Amino acid sequence: MRYLIGRYHEIALKGRNQWRFVNQLKTNVRNVFSDYRLGRMQSVGPRLMVPLPDELPDAIAIDRARLVFGLQNFSLSYPVERDLVAISKEAALRARGLPARSFRITARREDKTFPMTSPQIDRAVGAAVVEALGLKVDLHNPDLTISIEVMRDAAYVSAGKIAGAGGLPVGATGKALGLLSGGIDSPVAAYRMMKRGLKLDFVHFHGQPLVSSASREKAVDLATHLVRYEGQTALMLVPFGILQREIVAQTLRPLRVVLYRRFMLRIASALAERVGAAALMTGESLGQVASQTLENMAVIEKAASLQIFRPLVGMDKNEIIEQARALGTFETSILPDQDCCTLFVPAHPETHARLAAVEAAESPFDIPRMVSDAINATEVVRLSFPQHVDETLAAKATESST
Ligand code: ATP
Ligand code: MG
Repeated sequence: MRYLIGRYHEIALKGRNQWRFVNQLKTNVRNVFSDYRLGRMQSVGPRLMVPLPDELPDAIAIDRARLVFGLQNFSLSYPVERDLVAISKEAALRARGLPARSFRITARREDKTFPMTSPQIDRAVGAAVVEALGLKVDLHNPDLTISIEVMRDAAYVSAGKIAGAGGLPVGATGKALGLLSGGIDSPVAAYRMMKRGLKLDFVHFHGQPLVSSASREKAVDLATHLVRYEGQTALMLVPFGILQREIVAQTLRPLRVVLYRRFMLRIASALAERVGAAALMTGESLGQVASQTLENMAVIEKAASLQIFRPLVGMDKNEIIEQARALGTFETSILPDQDCCTLFVPAHPETHARLAAVEAAESPFDIPRMVSDAINATEVVRLSFPQHVDETLAAKATESST
């Protein structure tokens, strides 16, 4: 039997409500492995013990565990009898064949009735590994760390710690609706908020029926990438072209972008309430484009009925691009498209909008009607990870193709 041992960081610092975070983490781990049958998980001290089924390959276990927020690091670990000889043998077995020349042992006793102290275990097992494999001990900068966690039922031996995703388990801090544009910034913003434990649904405004559906497809691709971190999400696709045309017909050029944005936030607020989201999230960054000046952001956000999270507000474009590359969304984000915002965008947009002027510009509109028309035309795409192949359907497909 193999275990995944996930180690906490922030969760370990939580006090009396730690169990809430741990329960969410367990749910999320179960979800990310929902196509496998995991054993019963247990939280022991600052770690989660997850029994893995034999048919789950190591590589998949590692790839999936990396997606789970709330784990600082994790290891694949093998339980043995609580006996020095058995532990030493397992430690040598786990280190054998790994590309390491130096190592250290890090033992921890969760069960202090074990007759040796942790440093004593380190020394004894370390000597056995040197003897068996001829590796060099290096306490400060080892190529390999072998962890030994002594629990009540067994000692768990693992070779190497793998960096986890960090942060807090998705869902532990609530739910928000993310405005996903198809650009570089918003997927990064989504990642950062999910890392703070926020569950996200998404909304994308596209220019159809007036322009092609390229931005819509990009939004679906990006959400498909992001859902790996949260298991399930809904992407709401709002056709925005007609509404924009109404704005264009009645609004002087400079204020149009501010009006588009205010309508987006009104529609997003209404959708958020329907899905039980308590906040909105955007990829805005101060000063990046005309709609993101201090004055415009203030006037735009007045149209929202929920608080807005802007995790990128203090980041510059290069930092955001670096994170988009690490996240794996950059290549999709830079594909050419035509979202609703490239439609009808004036050459010289207002950068210092005043609320009174904006409200005057909005006075000809039947706002509730426009918002409800947009919502009624909204299409919802439900995404999940891992994707479940319907086995009966898959079987039928093979049958008919033979
Ligand atoms: P991004 O790279 O995310 O597109 P940007 O630099 O292009 O950002 P803006 O176009 O001003 O900046 O958009 C600011 C934020 O407003 C976006 O990060 C996103 O959260 C939201 N937004 C803009 N356009 C759309 C859209 N078509 N659908 C949904 N949200 C949008
Ligand atoms: Mg954009």
